[in-house]
Amino acid sequence: MTGTREIPMELIAEIQRLKTARNAVILAHNYQRPEVQDIADFVGDSLELSIKASKLTDIDVIEFCSVDFMGETAKLLAPTKTVLLPDPQAGCPMADMVTPEGLRALKAQYPGVPVVCYVNTSAAVKAECDITCTSANAVKVVNSLPGDTVIFAPDQCLGAWVQRHTEKKLILWEGYCPTHNRILPEHIAAQRAAHPGAEVMIHPECPMELLEMAEHVVSTGGMVRVAKESPATAFIVATEEGMLHRLRKENPDKQFFHIAATAICPNMKKTTLEKVLWSLQDLQTPVSIPDAVADRARQAIERMIALS
Ligand code: SF4
Repeated sequence: MTGTREIPMELIAEIQRLKTARNAVILAHNYQRPEVQDIADFVGDSLELSIKASKLTDIDVIEFCSVDFMGETAKLLAPTKTVLLPDPQAGCPMADMVTPEGLRALKAQYPGVPVVCYVNTSAAVKAECDITCTSANAVKVVNSLPGDTVIFAPDQCLGAWVQRHTEKKLILWEGYCPTHNRILPEHIAAQRAAHPGAEVMIHPECPMELLEMAEHVVSTGGMVRVAKESPATAFIVATEEGMLHRLRKENPDKQFFHIAATAICPNMKKTTLEKVLWSLQDLQTPVSIPDAVADRARQAIERMIALS
């Protein structure tokens, strides 16, 4: 789906020219197409990129190559900047599984119980929670809250993993990532048979039975760290395929095998170089969040950042 293709050099040159003319920076998520990652100034996970965006004081435009909720997070942390999404149709089915109304209804059933929202949520949903979390810090965030019960939304797989590592009782929203849920136990078995000795690194958005089969259960940032620090020289990577590009680029002496062709997020692949070019040409599509929502959502993110 993202196989190699000839990238016209004029296209890249024009993107670079417009980037300078717009005083822009290009950020790309680890799951973006290789050629999009390669023209980005920074590649990372959603929170790394948003924190980076908030610290870039001398730029006017942030071209955020990812999906819509990540563009919103960048806008929340860099409210004075113009944040552009190259393709506004690039959404996240998991983030769409929870609405502000639905979360309010659940909160009404558990008065006083603190609410943690995964960063994979809209700004409107974040505004309904007490604090956000990432897959890297979810256990720490949950343990930081008062009381013995916590509402956790929307990823039930990540929530189940956190439940294994906390004394608190989690009330899980029943959302999930369709891409990570297309990874199956037989994929791990087949890859282990094909690559004896390779260690499995897996994202906690996968179901528990798969997490139990892996050597490393880690966020995408954790995968970057494990690949660098582990003495192992071969890895089976159980997450979205875009991750492989960065791992291979940063670790040319090691081998990385993608878990299965089913683990491709169609939304992450919507952004192309052409769309990046058009977006910079027309300053489209800017992310905008109503102030009443933005203030509450920003507080939830800032509480998480303060914990780290
Ligand atoms: S990989 Fe999953 S969680 Fe990430 S954007 Fe795609 S659907 Fe959403």
